[in-house]
Amino acid sequence: MSDSRDSAGQVGTSDKPGTRQPEKQRGIFQRDGRWWISWYCTEGHRHRQPIGSRKLAIQEHGARRKEVEKARRLGVIYCPDEEWKRKQAQQRQRVLFREIAQDFLDFAATHKRDRCDKFRMERLLSVFGENLVSGDHTGGRGTL
Ligand SMILES: [Zn+2]
Repeated sequence: MSDSRDSAGQVGTSDKPGTRQPEKQRGIFQRDGRWWISWYCTEGHRHRQPIGSRKLAIQEHGARRKEVEKARRLGVIYCPDEEWKRKQAQQRQRVLFREIAQDFLDFAATHKRDRCDKFRMERLLSVFGENLVSGDHTGGRGTL
């Protein structure tokens, strides 16, 4: 049996800060009587946000960092700004898709159907079809 246990089950990290002043926590700061969090998203932006109490700010900051780490591991973007931008872009893409589809129909109406049609349609789908499909299946958001 390879049940390797430490002989003495103690880990030497019980270093209590007796008279030391409260440790300066990275990623949180105080402004206007409120505690804020400051964190970097996967895109490298610095996001700042008022939270309230110090305890809550520490919790929130930890949660954000976990999300960023998870997103990095999955190779996806975790950024409130980007999420908003992506929604805008998706909407624009749909409009663009419709325009190009209309253009295709015009083209098909004036030209006889031939292999060129197929080529254009395939190209259209490879550029936009995949994007529209994959945009609906970003399974990076598990919690909440
Ligand atoms: Zn960001």
